[in-house]
Amino acid sequence: MIEQLKVKLLDTKKKIVAQLEQLTQEKSFHKDKVQAKWQEMGDKEEDNAVEVANFQDNISLERDLEVNLEKAENALSKIEKGEYGKCEKCGSEIEEARLTAYPEATHCLKCTSGQKL
Ligand SMILES: [Zn+2]
Repeated sequence: MIEQLKVKLLDTKKKIVAQLEQLTQEKSFHKDKVQAKWQEMGDKEEDNAVEVANFQDNISLERDLEVNLEKAENALSKIEKGEYGKCEKCGSEIEEARLTAYPEATHCLKCTSGQKL
């Protein structure tokens, strides 16, 4: 069971890293574009506002991705150490169905209810 989850986690990690790389590329592309525009005319404030909004969307997406990446890496390192599948709060085994649905889980269902994931 753990092997399957490991494959799933590695896949998740790969996807997140790819998304982050794409965002980073877009960001540097964006910066060049904005700079070029400012050099050219520098008076189209409306366009700049839209670009700043897009840029901020990317930043919050990037943060979400980084948090998810950390969770996946955390779960993977627990697998390596043989500590995977134990609730961080009460120490009991996390339900198999829960791990299958959410391999990054760090708490059992009981400890998670009423608590933000
Ligand atoms: Zn628990």
